[in-house]
Amino acid sequence: MRKVSLDHPADLAGWRTAARALAGVGTPPAEVVWEIAEGGQADLLGAVATPPPGGGASFAVPRRFIELAQGVICHRDPARFGLLYAALQRLRDQPRLLDDHADPLVHQLAALARAVGRDIHKMRAFVRFRAVADAQGEGEGEGEHFVAWFEPEHHIVRRNADFFARRFANQRWSILTPNLCVHWDREALAFTPGVTRADAPHGDDLEALWRTYYASIFNPARLKVKAMTKEMPKKYWRNLPEASLIPDLIAAAGTRTAAMIERGANEKAPPMPRPVFTDATIIYPNLGEARSAAATCTRCTLYENATQTVFGEGPASVRLMFVGEQPGDQEDLAGHPFVGPAGKVFDRALADAGIDRADTYVTNAVKHFKFIPKGTRRLHQKPDGPEIDACRFWLDHERRLVKPALTVALGATAARSLLGKVVTIGKTRGAPIELLDGSEAWVTVHPSYLLRLEDRDAKELEYRRFVEDLTLIKGRLVQIAC
Ligand code: URA
Repeated sequence: MRKVSLDHPADLAGWRTAARALAGVGTPPAEVVWEIAEGGQADLLGAVATPPPGGGASFAVPRRFIELAQGVICHRDPARFGLLYAALQRLRDQPRLLDDHADPLVHQLAALARAVGRDIHKMRAFVRFRAVADAQGEGEGEGEHFVAWFEPEHHIVRRNADFFARRFANQRWSILTPNLCVHWDREALAFTPGVTRADAPHGDDLEALWRTYYASIFNPARLKVKAMTKEMPKKYWRNLPEASLIPDLIAAAGTRTAAMIERGANEKAPPMPRPVFTDATIIYPNLGEARSAAATCTRCTLYENATQTVFGEGPASVRLMFVGEQPGDQEDLAGHPFVGPAGKVFDRALADAGIDRADTYVTNAVKHFKFIPKGTRRLHQKPDGPEIDACRFWLDHERRLVKPALTVALGATAARSLLGKVVTIGKTRGAPIELLDGSEAWVTVHPSYLLRLEDRDAKELEYRRFVEDLTLIKGRLVQIAC
């Protein structure tokens, strides 16, 4: 028997090192015992830690296997390490094993990964932060610390930590869970052992705000109890401040709907209070509902001057999504993305690359047109960081609902929104970047950049490079489908 001791329950790096070494010397899955080290170092025994020189040739595994393992390793099923190892062994002789969905092992691993994916999604949606005063805080704003209690089903805290760090980069926060806590001090993430529910703060102004907010967005005429409880399962209710309202709101829905009809459709709704952390909290079950909610978005001030929200367009089932910067003058008036001059360049380049726009979902990082008026014209203004961050809520929704295999950022604003950081187009174009959900981001230029080039040769050259990028992306899409 070989015993492998991993650092923590989702220790993929430790698992990979051990699994490679074990597979290299041909150790059968039945001869390996996987365990988690008691708060300590991984302890790979003897020959496992150091494979014999020349013993056991290593072999390449498909990237998809690594992606699958990233999910599976977070599952709470103790058999996960052994199942992954068994799959790894079989991949040596069956490199296309993962394509065989009827294979019981592949099926089982996919189910584990899906369960983890759902749990990751629920944590992002249902974490509720409470403001607490922090005695150690110094200086202005330093004393504020947001703390949330969450009970994940699987070992997903590490996997989700980057997401929360990106999303709430400017706040100090902690997410407490029974197995592992994660903390962000605006610079770095830190992990500490799990705590009990009693350690989490209860009740504060934010909770009251949440309740008011939830009550105001709750639309009784749209009530679908089944869909609602599917998206917000009851097991999460006890940690959601707004959950205490749900039974009453459901009970009163019929009467409120009748009253709404009587009041008439044109009556303006009272303004909504805006909670501090809206991002990780509301989820719309489909693109139609997200689109109609976005139509009244006030998450930043751009809605004040724009004609309308220009939401993304395309089927929900496509594998390719394009993200532009923001609607331009014509898009703002028409209500559709990429229909003006940049849209024409985009359409031509898509056609030259052999991509049918009808097979893609096209959207923008920012959904309102930002401009300054000049005479009768409206001059485009670049959206700033907080505007991009505020609108990422909608892009995340679109990506969560469409689930594209590839998302293409057209230009720096889209890249910033998608990747959560500023990147240089020249350095990032032409290669995939893995996103937290396991899909790929690609970065290329914005079609408007091509329109702005004055030199004819440069324009032609850059257009060709743009088409080359799109062709590469199309090829990648075909490749990962195989
Ligand atoms: N530019 C964009 O980024 N998006 C549009 O929809 C139009 C122009």
